[in-house]
Amino acid sequence: MRRPLVAGNWKMNGTRASVAELIESLGQQSIPASVEVVVFPASLHVAQVVAGLQGTSIGIGAQDCAVQVGFGALTGEESGTQLADAGCRWVLVGHSERRLVLGESDKVVSAKFKAALECDMVPVLCLGETLEQRQAGQTLEVVSAQLGHVLADAGVDAFERAVVAYEPVWAIGTGLTATSQQAQEVHEAIRAQLARESERVAADVRILYGGSVKAENSAELFEMADVDGALVGGASLKANDFGAICRAAGI
Ligand code: PEP
Repeated sequence: MRRPLVAGNWKMNGTRASVAELIESLGQQSIPASVEVVVFPASLHVAQVVAGLQGTSIGIGAQDCAVQVGFGALTGEESGTQLADAGCRWVLVGHSERRLVLGESDKVVSAKFKAALECDMVPVLCLGETLEQRQAGQTLEVVSAQLGHVLADAGVDAFERAVVAYEPVWAIGTGLTATSQQAQEVHEAIRAQLARESERVAADVRILYGGSVKAENSAELFEMADVDGALVGGASLKANDFGAICRAAGI
């Protein structure tokens, strides 16, 4: 039985004041104990969020990590070692905004995935196709290649301690959501790809859907057999909306 997971990606948003308000409202949400919840603030707000959410069940993650672990000469980067020390147990890896805007390659994504595991953090590996790729009928091929890269590099057992997020690029921040059937088709393919290497790992790994998830569309997505939760961007900045998605995951 896979425990539902709802993750909030705050992206490059927030000031200390707005983050304080968001933390306070999040603390007031009733979240079912059956649902695991994690938020991913900007790294400069991690310490504030760790302190503010102390005593709650909400976990904290980073939106990215360096390819290297430990310490060293890598200006502007933060290693998993440092992020874990700051209180992050989770880290997003390969978000499409980093792949497409910042040119992160599969090789870099894979290195970050392994670095996160080495620091005892849980990597949330983001996969997804662009609109052009979907329209060209290449969705499963693209997602499979992205996953295959990490699988080949890190091995299937690494997914015992990782989470996968399917996030169609055309649905991120656009208000367009994949239908629950479109999401299920890709989630099923991701699980089948992992199952070819280990049925046990595939059965246990959580696969989140991300892409304009809102309180109104989340319940239908969560009904799908292979949708184990959501990675939420915009709606995670509103505590009431995020709380409603968390509650939908617990039904
Ligand atoms: C995301 O950035 O991971 C995301 C899913 O964003 P949104 O929910 O805003 O589409």
